[in-house]
Amino acid sequence: MGIANVHNEKLTWGREWNPSIGTRASVIGIFFGAPLAVFYFYLSCTFFQGAFFTPLVDMWKGRLTLSELYGFLPSFTLEALAIFLFWIAFQLTLFFLPDFFHRLIPFYRGGETKGSVTPAGYELSYNINGLQAWFLSVLGFVVCSFGLKLFSPTIIVDHWGELLLVTSLCGNLLAYFVYFKASYLPSWPKDNKVSGSLFYDFYMGIELNPRIRSFDFKLFFNGRPGIIAWTLINLSFAAKQYALYGYVTNSMLLVNLLHGIYVVYFFWKESWYLKTIDICHEHFGWMLAWGDLTFLPYMYTLQGLYLVYHPVELSSLFAWAVLALGLFGFWFFASANNQKDRFQKSGGNCLIWGKKPEYIETKYVAADGKEREGKLLISGFWGKARHMNYTGDLIGSLAYGLSAGFDSFVPYFYFFFMAILLVHRCLRDESRCLSKYGKSWHEYCRLVPYRFIPGLF
Ligand code: NDP
Repeated sequence: MGIANVHNEKLTWGREWNPSIGTRASVIGIFFGAPLAVFYFYLSCTFFQGAFFTPLVDMWKGRLTLSELYGFLPSFTLEALAIFLFWIAFQLTLFFLPDFFHRLIPFYRGGETKGSVTPAGYELSYNINGLQAWFLSVLGFVVCSFGLKLFSPTIIVDHWGELLLVTSLCGNLLAYFVYFKASYLPSWPKDNKVSGSLFYDFYMGIELNPRIRSFDFKLFFNGRPGIIAWTLINLSFAAKQYALYGYVTNSMLLVNLLHGIYVVYFFWKESWYLKTIDICHEHFGWMLAWGDLTFLPYMYTLQGLYLVYHPVELSSLFAWAVLALGLFGFWFFASANNQKDRFQKSGGNCLIWGKKPEYIETKYVAADGKEREGKLLISGFWGKARHMNYTGDLIGSLAYGLSAGFDSFVPYFYFFFMAILLVHRCLRDESRCLSKYGKSWHEYCRLVPYRFIPGLF
């Protein structure tokens, strides 16, 4: 199928050139609201057994005064700072290690890998070794804590509040650093984006791929300290549950397992991650710097924290059902992503559901002014709905919430957050694809009219 037309993708690539008043207002809202939300969830889990509304109601009714609330604020400790700095230094060391996993594990794509061509026409190289870094980090944590007893496996949760303060501080410092680096020492100035708003630029980032020599800020901070820590944080929560009650609930095991699979997949497919919207289009500013260092490790792990202070033992039948749902969601998410990845890498020379794939051929003018060819897959999941990878991710997110039972909203935060994030991302991505592919995108939408669920949405 071929609709060859030429479109220019420059206008809507990545963050906006001229943010509207509404956009500026919403980024200010997130800038102040997100840290408050992280603190509120921490408060509700740690001091109110995961009851979501109780702190609010208590404040409303005067049972929780401002000075008492102040008392819940975490304090700064050198120990927490040392833990955090050690973690960053350790991850930096692993980041620069050559990848030996790609030689050891068949089918795993690690080592030196090319990213997508940037709007200014650069094709950057990345050292892909996230799986190796994840493995060595988990091994190191398990051996040094459970095995050699150099520190307690509960070390993370024991410093949870103090670490919140440290990661938040460092996330903000990192945002200032990349802002000034972008202004005075940008790595690829032609890929910079500057709007009329200083705050919007600080929040969304100016540089697309800030680097210092071969150190890539976006690949490192988006993936390593936060996502690798995700697994260790969950292990620490499980150890804390055991220390408090003498047992680990099946809900905690489920959360560890489902999150663990998602994280391992992320690093197994790290070369695929180079082609995602995060790496191809998001500029590196406060949103990613603070988000990667604080929001992600604190909000993506909420189910585990909740279960530490509100242990839930699920009936076996329900636990198996949630496990099945979680695995189904993961399979869905991974299969849809894999189909597009295989299709793009092979240029269409692959099998999708056992058949040669159908696609729409298109031409577009990239932001560097050069004409390029593209293909839109209309077979497999991508022929059923336009973002079925998001649907799978949402099913998995729902299973994470269900793993922690029905007593509170807290474990379901992630599901609702992902729903908003992915719907917003879908709309944003579709407007970019429309400006990039023009008539061909219209044709794709005509052939595949639904976004997430065939026949519904
Ligand atoms: P996608 O992987 O869906 O990438 C969208 C891009 O794919 C489009 O911009 C277009 O780019 C290309 N594309 C779209 N349709 C087609 C098609 N039919 N054929 C060929 N190419 C197509 O989005 P993301 O990068 O946002 O997400 C990747 C995964 O990461 C998802 O599964 C998502 O659920 C997950 N995710 C998880 C998050 C988390 O915090 N847990 C956050 C965000 C995402 P092009 O210009 O190349 O044509």
